[in-house]
Amino acid sequence: MEIIKKYENYRKIIKSYGFALSTISFDAQTIAPKKSAKYRAEMISTLSGEAFKISTSDEYIKIVNELFGIKDQLEENLKREIEKVYKDINREKNIPKEEYIAFRKTLSLANTKWEEAKQKSDYNIFKDHFKELIKYIKKFNEYTNPDENVYDVKLDDFEEGYTINKYDEFFEYLKENLVPFVLEVLSKPEVDDNFITSKLYDISKQREFINYLLDVFNFDLDRGLLRESVHPFTSGINCNDVRLTVRYLEDFLPSSIFAGIHELGHALYEQQVSEELINTNLARGASPGMHESQSRFYENIIGKSYDFWQVHYKKLQSIFSNELTNVSLEDFYKGINKVKASLIRVEADELTYPLHILIRYEMEKLICNTNISVDELPKRWNDLYEKYLGIRPNNDSEGILQDIHWSWGMFGYFPTYALGSAIASQIYYKSDINLEQLIKNNEIYKVNDYLKEHLHKYGSTKSPRELIKIATGEDFSPEYYVRYLKDKYSKIYNISEEKE
Ligand SMILES: [Zn+2]
Repeated sequence: MEIIKKYENYRKIIKSYGFALSTISFDAQTIAPKKSAKYRAEMISTLSGEAFKISTSDEYIKIVNELFGIKDQLEENLKREIEKVYKDINREKNIPKEEYIAFRKTLSLANTKWEEAKQKSDYNIFKDHFKELIKYIKKFNEYTNPDENVYDVKLDDFEEGYTINKYDEFFEYLKENLVPFVLEVLSKPEVDDNFITSKLYDISKQREFINYLLDVFNFDLDRGLLRESVHPFTSGINCNDVRLTVRYLEDFLPSSIFAGIHELGHALYEQQVSEELINTNLARGASPGMHESQSRFYENIIGKSYDFWQVHYKKLQSIFSNELTNVSLEDFYKGINKVKASLIRVEADELTYPLHILIRYEMEKLICNTNISVDELPKRWNDLYEKYLGIRPNNDSEGILQDIHWSWGMFGYFPTYALGSAIASQIYYKSDINLEQLIKNNEIYKVNDYLKEHLHKYGSTKSPRELIKIATGEDFSPEYYVRYLKDKYSKIYNISEEKE
């Protein structure tokens, strides 16, 4: 069909801009010299301006709308792609232009004010801008989805098919079944992790270990690379060009190892998307939640397991012979899995992590679905930390101001983090491989192969809910997550399971 050719032509141009921009961005975050920033900002602004013009041009929109109109006649993957692109380009179409421009300004100011507020630990600096931002988000929803709940729309934007109903079920289950267990673990004597907190680990030696891990996880260096950056991230340009970064901290060894394995999980997912999709808009992981399910599967279920360190601890010990000689495998395993109530989400352990997300979910529901005053929010936040984790922030910086998401107007993203961990657990219990054995045999490439066949290769051709069914044979269920966490941490903290 002529119209498909036209669409493909536009797609190629838009993807070319995307390719240029993401390569520049990776370069900027890893190796670009300090003084290159100003010139680069101008180039980026020109390129993104051009890309925006093309992707919002009348002709392109007309082509997409037309294809959407005949979507049932299209081949399956193209139909899926057109549905996604159609949703994207129409997302903001009913918003009056002047209001949209004003909103962009508010957003940019809110972000600057958030930075300042966080630094000074003073919510008052951010408050009014936050209020303005929330007002716009609610108002825009009346233009774009007048019949739908604003938080439902936000949640579905990030994780297709997951709205309040689904998430309520999930978080209620965690509240009922996980919160009491977490409190019990927290009441147990603290695990000794002195070898982590009181020792320095040479960075060049850490690099050596991370290179060893790339090999263990069978990351294909002909189709990807590793660099360093302030915040670790993965840039999946396509399956033949996947770039991940790590950060090395001399005084915190787990950062490079576990954030590294986490990013490797994202990277393997991107590397294993079917090459046939490479020119389409479906050539990437299916959603934030699915992506997190893979990064956390590798990081927590494999990387923080006893079986894994049974094989690889010797190597780490040989690299850090002074620092780790007197640390037994058992102590190392317990140290890296230490549970502690903490105020900061990004520093949380695997067990308390979902409670940080539960708190944000409850806050977002409150903000989106009620008329609560912004003045009330810090107190509500602190109350929730006290309720679920038994600790209370002392200031806004370690409380409501800690995450950047809301200052970007991003509501509905946080829940995908917990969902991802839960999906990872479901895959763990429902997959047809003997994971423990493969880890013990140092055959992680076989795990990769399995995940490729049952999940990764599909890219975005299926919705997250369909993919879970393909990968596990069932719909999503939160039970596996709780089962996994209880099983693992009962053993570490000597809690008899009958009691639960
Ligand atoms: Zn991640």
